[in-house]
Formats: sequence, structure tokens, C-alpha cells
Amino acid sequence: MTATIIDGKAFAAEVRGRVGEHVARLKEENGITPGLAVVLVGEDPASEVYVRSKGRQTIESGMNSYEHKLPADTSEADLLALIDRLNADPAVNGILVQLPLPGHLNEDLVINAIDPAKDVDGFHISNVGLLATGQKAMVPCTPLGCLMLLREHHGSLSGLNAVVIGRSNIVGKPMAQLLLRDSCTVTVAHSRTRDIEAVVRGADIVVAAVGRAEMVTGDWIKPGATVIDVGINRLPPAEEGGKGRLVGDVEFESAAEVAGAITPVPGGVGPMTIACLLANTLTATCRAHGLAEPE
Ligand code: NDP
Repeated sequence: MTATIIDGKAFAAEVRGRVGEHVARLKEENGITPGLAVVLVGEDPASEVYVRSKGRQTIESGMNSYEHKLPADTSEADLLALIDRLNADPAVNGILVQLPLPGHLNEDLVINAIDPAKDVDGFHISNVGLLATGQKAMVPCTPLGCLMLLREHHGSLSGLNAVVIGRSNIVGKPMAQLLLRDSCTVTVAHSRTRDIEAVVRGADIVVAAVGRAEMVTGDWIKPGATVIDVGINRLPPAEEGGKGRLVGDVEFESAAEVAGAITPVPGGVGPMTIACLLANTLTATCRAHGLAEPE
């Protein structure tokens, strides 16, 4: 293997440490404790795991965590009423509604009901527009985490060719905006892209956010390129009753033979997402109180 492994787990711990120090200073000097409210509707097991983990890390960083677990048949009106209360609550600086929502709830309506200043996921249309126009926004956590890893590894990204595979509102599109803001030449590939291997082979930076296990293989990668693997896919278990292995959207073994640097799965982008959620909650708190924002 030739590639440097980009250790997202270690870098995320550093980010959480910096957030924790800033939170401690806010408490001591300003008497403010940031608060993050997480709303979970229904009982999706994967979402429950994420929400528990978010709650634990929020508390570990010194912030207040408010969990709102609602039954799967919660009406849209009841969910919107809760969001209104959280918008008005000065102890709540960040609001996150765990997606996906049960089918009878309109996700766009719910997300756009969140006060954009408390929208720590960065999915509200105001934040999407602010990011697209280069203004101060709340930036979605997963792409922000990817950008931090890229900056940490490369320093300046200016002039590099970046290919983002995937165009979702949660990862692909905001990732492309962030890379453009850092002066990359950005291509967004998706399921209709022709000769996608050749497109990816032109990239100095590849961000894979597809949701297809090990789709991107080493022969797609330009020698020396940096590969950021956002995908989280569980392979079928090798034996009955077992748990399948977690893999990314990139075939790690073959890509690591060619790439200059690569994130592993698990331990790459995943841990950065929650670290950035905490960082966004801290940023929202500082903005709400007119205080200097964290770096
Ligand atoms: P979506 O399913 O919303 O989007 C997937 C994108 O991949 C779509 O734009 C789709 O194209 C594209 N795509 C699908 N098949 C192909 C193909 N064969 N070739 C090229 N492009 C293709 O997924 P998300 O963006 O929400 O998530 C992507 C992955 O990232 C998932 O594995 C998810 O689990 C993971 N993830 C990880 C996070 C983390 O914290 N690490 C956080 C969020 C997501 P089209 O638009 O044309 O259909």
C-alpha cells in the first residue's frame, strides 16, 4: 500500500477537544452553556444509534443535550409545534431533526420550519442559498468534515481538480459548493454520468458519496490523488446471524495502492460528522450572543 491513511477518528477527537475548550471558556467567561436539541420521530434502529451517539458526545463536550423522541405516528402539526417551541427557547442553540422522517411527514416543510440560525445541519433553504452565494451559512456537517480533512492534508486546495460522486442535498451538492469556495475545479458525477471512470481518473481529489459498496476501484484513481470515502455500507454477513463488514463506496485495498491519501471506513469521514455538528452548535451559540466565532 502506498497511500497515507487520513485518520478521521484522531482528527475528529482533536476537533471535539477544541470545541470542548471553547465551551468551557464560554461557561466561565460568559455564563453560557450551548444547547443542542435532537428530534427523533419513530424507531429506525440506525437513527437511534446516531441520536444516542450525538447525545453522548454533546454532553462530553460540555453542552446541554435535549432529546425529543416522538412516536412514529406523530402528526405534522405536532412536530411543527415542537420545532416552534425549540425555535423560541433561548437555551436551545442548535436544532437537528433526524432524517429520514416517516413517510407521512413532509421533510422539506419540517426542515424549513427550523430557525435558520439554529439549523446546525445546514439543510434549511436559507443556509443552502447562503452557502451557494458565498455568504456566512450553517454548513452541512458531513461535507464540512470532508473539507476539514482535505485542508488538513493538503493545506490550500486552490486549482485542484475535484470530482464529487453523488449529488444529494445532504452530501454531494454542499460538498461541491465547499470545494468551489476553496477554488477547486469541481465536477459533480452521478448515476447518469457517462464514462464515470474516466471522469474520476482526471481528479486530484475524489469525494465518493454514492451509497454503493466498493463501487470506486483503484483503476479509477489518478496516481497520487486524495480519496475521501463518505459511503457507509454494510456487506451481507459471512455467516448466518453474523454482522456484515462495514465498507465505503471505494474499494479500499485497490484504491490505496494508487492514491496518495485515503480515508478508511470506518474511522474516516464518519467521526468527523458529529464533531462538525458540535462545532456548528458552538458557532450558532456564539452568533446568537454576538460573540467571536470559533476558528
Ligand atoms: P443518496 O442516496 O441521497 O445519493 C446518492 C447519490 O449517488 C445520488 O446523487 C446518485 O445519483 C448517486 N449514484 C447512485 N448510484 C450511482 C452510480 N452507479 N454511479 C454514480 N453515481 C451514483 O445518498 P447520500 O448522499 O445521503 O449518502 C451517500 C453515502 O454516504 C451513503 O453510503 C451514506 O450512508 C453515506 N453517508 C455517510 C455519512 C457520514 O457521516 N459518513 C453521512 C451521510 C451519508 P442520482 O442523483 O443520479 O440518483
